[in-house]
Amino acid sequence: MVIIGHKSILLVSEPVKSLCSSCSSMQLHELQIYQKYVHLFWIPFLPAGKTGYCVCKQCEKVEKQDEVNSNLQNQCYNLKQQVKAPIWMYAGAILLVLLYLYLTWIEKNG
Ligand SMILES: [Zn+2]
Repeated sequence: MVIIGHKSILLVSEPVKSLCSSCSSMQLHELQIYQKYVHLFWIPFLPAGKTGYCVCKQCEKVEKQDEVNSNLQNQCYNLKQQVKAPIWMYAGAILLVLLYLYLTWIEKNG
């Protein structure tokens, strides 16, 4: 039985001041970038895309990146470009490569 799935973690959050579409006030928002990753038997295998959210600090409304105004969309896009997936998200793929190299070495030398 192979257990495969995906999870998301918060990579980075950054405060920005912008007009809220819900409470219509110029409030502090928080841009949040989440990184999704695929896991195999609960071992992180590979990163699988980032998602941006904008959270209003006043009314706590959460909007996805494509639902906010173009200014926030651009800031969200730039923030996504700046942050990279952490190396531990490649753990499964790295283990698989190491296992392949080890088995190849054993076959040649053993
Ligand atoms: Zn608001």
